[in-house]
Amino acid sequence: MDLPSYTPDNSPVPDGIIVIERASTPQELGPRLNRTAADVVRFLMQQGEMVTATQSLSDDMIELFVAEIGAEIRLVNPGEEQEVELQKVLGVAELDDEEEEGATTRAPVITVMGHVDHGKTKLLDRIRDANVVAGEAGGITQHIGAYQVVKGGRPITFIDTPGHEAFTAMRARGADATDIVVLVVAADDGVMPQTVEAIDHARAADVPIVVAVNKIDRDNADPDKVLAQLADRGLVPESWGGDTIVCQISALQGIGIDELLENLLVVAELEDLRANPDGRAKGVVLEAKLDAGRGPVATVLVQRGTLKVGDPLVAGPAWGRVRALINDKGEQVKQAGPSAPVQVLGLSDVATAGDDFVVARDERSAAKVSEQREHYRRLASISGSASALGGGAKLEDIFSQIQAGEAATLNLIIKADVTGSLEAVTASLKKLERDEVKLSFVREGVGGILKSDIELAMASNATIIGFNVRPDRQVRDFAAAEDVEIRTYEVIYHLLEDIENAMVGMLAPEFEEVVTGEAEVREIFSVPRVGKIAGCYVTNGQITRGSKVRFLREGTIIWKGAIQSLRRFKDDVREVNTGFE
Ligand code: GDP
Repeated sequence: MDLPSYTPDNSPVPDGIIVIERASTPQELGPRLNRTAADVVRFLMQQGEMVTATQSLSDDMIELFVAEIGAEIRLVNPGEEQEVELQKVLGVAELDDEEEEGATTRAPVITVMGHVDHGKTKLLDRIRDANVVAGEAGGITQHIGAYQVVKGGRPITFIDTPGHEAFTAMRARGADATDIVVLVVAADDGVMPQTVEAIDHARAADVPIVVAVNKIDRDNADPDKVLAQLADRGLVPESWGGDTIVCQISALQGIGIDELLENLLVVAELEDLRANPDGRAKGVVLEAKLDAGRGPVATVLVQRGTLKVGDPLVAGPAWGRVRALINDKGEQVKQAGPSAPVQVLGLSDVATAGDDFVVARDERSAAKVSEQREHYRRLASISGSASALGGGAKLEDIFSQIQAGEAATLNLIIKADVTGSLEAVTASLKKLERDEVKLSFVREGVGGILKSDIELAMASNATIIGFNVRPDRQVRDFAAAEDVEIRTYEVIYHLLEDIENAMVGMLAPEFEEVVTGEAEVREIFSVPRVGKIAGCYVTNGQITRGSKVRFLREGTIIWKGAIQSLRRFKDDVREVNTGFE
């Protein structure tokens, strides 16, 4: 068969910088650059990349072709350009316009940061217990990701992020919704790596820092040493002539907590924090999970306007009419205003912590935006995996790659029940990385294992890890048919153990491979509407219809799948033995 070869086309390329979406197919890319899809396919084939006209291209492939024809492009993520349009559909600019007029003072939003074990959780607990439960009807506080306390008649919002290092990512995002950072430093330990990291985060977000020197009840507490260390980092205490507010506290014994809260209100006043409580609400998602009984649940922080039951809400790719709002005391409320954290029920999907949310003008535009975002998010994850293609390996193959002396990359798709466990799983897995084994998270998501996950795993040669989630029968069958491995866990330790074992080649295999035969491709026939047929000669063993096969070129797997049909001359056969064609 004749493969048409690539002949350079010298017709002019479009002027200026052309915006190209990642994961574009030759069919999409060619015409944008004044070329045909076939030009792209033939050129890439010449470079040793076998692609079809409808296959998503990696960044490298796109850039290779662009360099060849001498065009200038800017690669964007799918949806990046469209998002501007979607913001218009949602009428976000109009909200920003009316922000100034009716703005009134709002509560400050506080994030507590600091080194592990310096007392962040204790402090958050202490503040909540002392100020929320007291005198409240309905009593029991709920951990919804944030809470509000009232000090001297004025509210303060605390983001209740777990302070463990595994949550660095979420903490970093937490700072974006944050007006003031409380930096907890243990008086008996001083400034530590994560203290410095927290300072960097706060500075990057241009958020003022109030220092809480904690554990002053300890015998070995040395607050002055801590102050000196902080001054070295540019946080000079007021008592030393600087402008950093420092409170000495004991979260354990409840010393200095009131003073800390008062100081937070002083800083809040200086910052003159305002928001317009009227009109459609807008804000950020703090936490999201899939609740067995209630469906997708998101804790949001309202940043302007008032969120009401019945509002058509869009949060990232999720949308819904707000079915119920639940506050930090576990009470159902009808509405939530600026700086209030509230749990939202009624969304179509699990949003991601850090997603923006906004109330749309009507249900239709909410649904439309959500649908578009979901579409682009899928494309974006495919483009991410397209560039991972070729490099990565599955769990079952990782050890042989390591042994072969190759630096191996293990491609994983992680699905977990809640954002918290997802971040914990990925952070703990990251720690297993070594020079010879890298991990690549092709997708990290909250929610069940879906058919789209299997498709992505197929496209990116990934193994799927489910943490506290399981695929249903249909998905499981689909995965088995496509030879995609799904491993599910309920205990993080077991998960880590398995991955570590895979890295040292001790993983109990899920499948056992038996080689039944080998053949050599001697000729390729192209049949219209059928595709390509490999004319082979069986060199040893036996080739059986339905068997799984791998195509190797110079020892490298170029394709794998199953034998669809097997023929000798015109006849269908079940098997072909050594020495036959
Ligand atoms: P985090 O990792 O920063 O959230 O730290 P935790 O709040 O979990 O506190 C770590 C340990 O320090 C726990 O055993 C706390 O009981 C203890 N701790 C926290 N605050 C104080 C304090 O003010 N005084 C003393 N003596 N211990 C404290």
